Amino acid sequence: MSFKHKAIQLLEKQLTKQALILDIRPWHNDTFFEVDLHVPDADFSKTNTVQHLKCRVAPLTFNDYTVSGWDVETRTCTLMIHAAHNGAGAEWVKSLSKSDEISYLKTEQHRYPAMDHGKWLFLGDQSAVGHFLALKQLANHNPNISGAIIIPDIEHCKQLRYFYPDFGLKSIPLHNGYTESILAFLDQQPVIIYDGICIAGNTTMVIEVRNYLKQRGIASNKIKAQGFWE
Ligand SMILES: Cc1cc2nc3c(=O)[nH]c(=O)nc-3n(C[C@H](O)[C@H](O)[C@H](O)COP(=O)(O)OP(=O)(O)OC[C@H]3O[C@@H](n4cnc5c(N)ncnc54)[C@H](O)[C@@H]3O)c2cc1C
Repeated sequence: MSFKHKAIQLLEKQLTKQALILDIRPWHNDTFFEVDLHVPDADFSKTNTVQHLKCRVAPLTFNDYTVSGWDVETRTCTLMIHAAHNGAGAEWVKSLSKSDEISYLKTEQHRYPAMDHGKWLFLGDQSAVGHFLALKQLANHNPNISGAIIIPDIEHCKQLRYFYPDFGLKSIPLHNGYTESILAFLDQQPVIIYDGICIAGNTTMVIEVRNYLKQRGIASNKIKAQGFWE
């Protein structure tokens, strides 16, 4: 190993914290993964806050993954990682096994309005499955949450229904692009009835769907949008 590589390794070791993989569940075709973690240094007790772990996926490369299904006392959680493309994060998650340690830089937090009452609409792609599960956990499973999520693999649609029967979002196929797929669903929705709308996933889709909702009369402060990947 070169001096440069050793120096990078040492630096990363000093800057990062560790989490232990308790279990890892690949979905059909090894293109989506649930990763159960014990994160001893994390604090999952903050209310109305979605957290992300900035995970080291390659030397000096850190990706955000959303904390879902967390337990405050045991400091455990699940990351849900889409890996149907070629990318450092996708390759990284495919290389992981139970009992491995992963390194992360820090946890980042995003505040959300209280969602345990009112009507909410969630819109996104498969990279946002964990994000929407996290919002549902914060919402104490408010039954008035609905929406649509793009799931390109038909087998993943079945697995999502089977493993998360209360997910409550409609799985829709990827057809003519991310924005177009969501807009085909939204065209039939009375969007004005919602107290808030959350959009997450492909960044272009998030921006375009947000603009479309504003054109349909939704105020900016009712839309919570987060671009995840480009
Ligand atoms: C706050 C935040 C939270 C996030 N939470 C999650 C999460 O819970 N789960 C999750 O899977 N991702 C999540 N992401 C996205 C994640 O951080 C990575 O950006 C994403 O996984 C792609 O990283 P990569 O290294 O695999 O691919 P990259 O090297 O970034 O991209 C390689 C190629 O793959 C394409 N690509 C990247 N992602 C996808 C995708 N999902 N579908 C199709 N094509 C893609 C890109 O357009 C590019 O052409 C989150 C991002 C943010 C900012």
